[in-house]
Amino acid sequence: MAGVKDNVLKILSWLPGYVELVAAAKGRRIEDILEAIDSGVRIIGENYVREAEEKFIVIGPKVKWHFIGHLQKNKVKKAVKIFNMIETVDSVEIAQEIDKACASINKTMPVLIEVNSAKEQNKSGVLPEDVEAIIENISTLPHIKVSGLMTMGPVLENPEDYRPYFEQTKKLFDRIKINHDMKYLSMGMSGSYHIAIQEGANLVRIGTAIFGGGVGGRYKK
Ligand SMILES: *Cc1c(COP(=O)(O)O)cnc(C)c1O
Repeated sequence: MAGVKDNVLKILSWLPGYVELVAAAKGRRIEDILEAIDSGVRIIGENYVREAEEKFIVIGPKVKWHFIGHLQKNKVKKAVKIFNMIETVDSVEIAQEIDKACASINKTMPVLIEVNSAKEQNKSGVLPEDVEAIIENISTLPHIKVSGLMTMGPVLENPEDYRPYFEQTKKLFDRIKINHDMKYLSMGMSGSYHIAIQEGANLVRIGTAIFGGGVGGRYKK
């Protein structure tokens, strides 16, 4: 099996220049994350605030930190200290909480709205039809900056099956961009980033294809 360095170099050489790579590092060892950084990774994605705090102590601000998990209200104060972007805002309440916490440390947080593009029940994310209203609502908050959209899509075997969800999210992104300045469309993981980029992603979140193992067989090329 190829090492972290080879994986990163291969992915970076394949990605178009305008696409930014987030190394999704949940549960990964510090040594492996440092190897990824030495190989060119500039953004680390974390799903849990506590885990990110532990890693941040060692790695620090030489990379950007993106929060990509489900953010709980009681973790917001800690999260805003570490993270440079929160990709998973899915309610007015959590946006207000982030705004308030950022105000107290004089920071403006770039956020993405997480879209539940497959309209799955019991999944986090905003339904596509509600995204624009949420953005209207929270764009007046002074300490957050709505910077784009993020979507996961359902868990699918065949990468090609992600395409309709990515395509719809790109359409939504383009439509909302008419009235709101947004830069980032975060879509695509190890098994689906090729498709996501074809459909307009400019931020991809990749774990297994960098660090190996784990998400059994989802990375096929
Ligand atoms: C773990 C994770 C990823 C990366 O998934 P892989 O299939 O391992 O590449 C991307 N996005 C989010 C939100 C994740 O939690």
